Amino acid sequence: MSVTQQQVFEALGKVASPRGVALTNANVLSPVTVTDGKVFFSINVDAAEARAWESVRAQAEAAVRAIPGVTAAMIALTAERRPGAAPPPQRPVPGVAPVASHRPPHSPASPMAKQAEIPGIAAVIAVASGKGGVGKSTTAINLALGLRDLGLRVGLLDADIYGPSVPRLTGIREKPQLNDERKMIPIQRFGLAIMSIGFLVEEDTAMIWRGPMVMSAITQMLRDVEWGTLDVLVVDMPPGTGDAQLTLAQNVPLKGAVIISTPQDLSLIDARRGLAMFKKVNVPVLGIVENMSYFQCPHCGTRSDIFGHGGARHEAERLGVPFLGEIPLHMSIRAASDSGTPVVDSEPDGPHAAIYRAIGAKVRDQLQGAIAAA
Ligand code: ADP
Repeated sequence: MSVTQQQVFEALGKVASPRGVALTNANVLSPVTVTDGKVFFSINVDAAEARAWESVRAQAEAAVRAIPGVTAAMIALTAERRPGAAPPPQRPVPGVAPVASHRPPHSPASPMAKQAEIPGIAAVIAVASGKGGVGKSTTAINLALGLRDLGLRVGLLDADIYGPSVPRLTGIREKPQLNDERKMIPIQRFGLAIMSIGFLVEEDTAMIWRGPMVMSAITQMLRDVEWGTLDVLVVDMPPGTGDAQLTLAQNVPLKGAVIISTPQDLSLIDARRGLAMFKKVNVPVLGIVENMSYFQCPHCGTRSDIFGHGGARHEAERLGVPFLGEIPLHMSIRAASDSGTPVVDSEPDGPHAAIYRAIGAKVRDQLQGAIAAA
């Protein structure tokens, strides 16, 4: 039975709001997306009111989940701070990230410093890029597998809300189940605990998300998921360095970030913006990876530096951040990625797996303190 928007509105009409009217009349709902039994929307309130609305969010979620045919409901509470308004309460509200509506705060005393660790996870790291299409997601999953091969317990969170590619990269088509506490159970594949917004909404649906909704949904995917015990959680960030990315970098308790760049100049300029973004929010940059660094012929193995390779290494040296490695542009990396069998898993003894493992080792070495402490 297919679920309709009308059914969702009827269910939400029975939920009371702190404004003394039904939730549907409180003027706080974003457009409601209903796709294939999956329901997504956000409740947008002022940050000062957020605490009072958290129970409404939970009731709305319960009401939507109770509709026959609903297979997943993701309801985000987004708390926007009006310019000039008083700052939100210091005590964190579960599942809510305060988001400035104009310029995200970025002083060293910003929420990032206070962001609570995620119980059971020793280190959360971001894989980021200044722009799309540089192979960020491909690198994120293969890096996660490289870390797995080093004996670590690893999770992968696809936070690329504008175009989640982890379903394609892993071939995962199933939806996460809920545990008794109504937390989502990540899908286990390749020995990784995997979660992606793409498991809940279609790729094209994801495009309509507004900035504050992005943060709220990602907060839910971080904290309302039963990750278990992990040494490292790799977060595949949305590409770019806009406000949504900055807020994310600020609100996710990151131990560090890995920047993916291609050798072309433009991409390096974008990578520099990525470095500046993480610096702004005091997240250490673990290093730069040069992807599609050189072309390796799949037939004869000959290497051609068609993109003027080596730029990222020089840039890393110039900026004083570690250079983590070079990944060639190779047919088998693309084919493996696009068929849902990442190369580190499908060709574990091949040269590419060795490159990702070596990058993983450099990342692990920098996280050693956090992993040992946990
Ligand atoms: P992003 O996450 O930056 O948008 P993707 O990881 O989705 O990029 O990669 C974009 C495309 O490039 C995909 O088709 C992927 O298979 C391919 N790709 C990524 N890295 C490599 C590589 N090193 N060699 C060959 N193809 C690659």
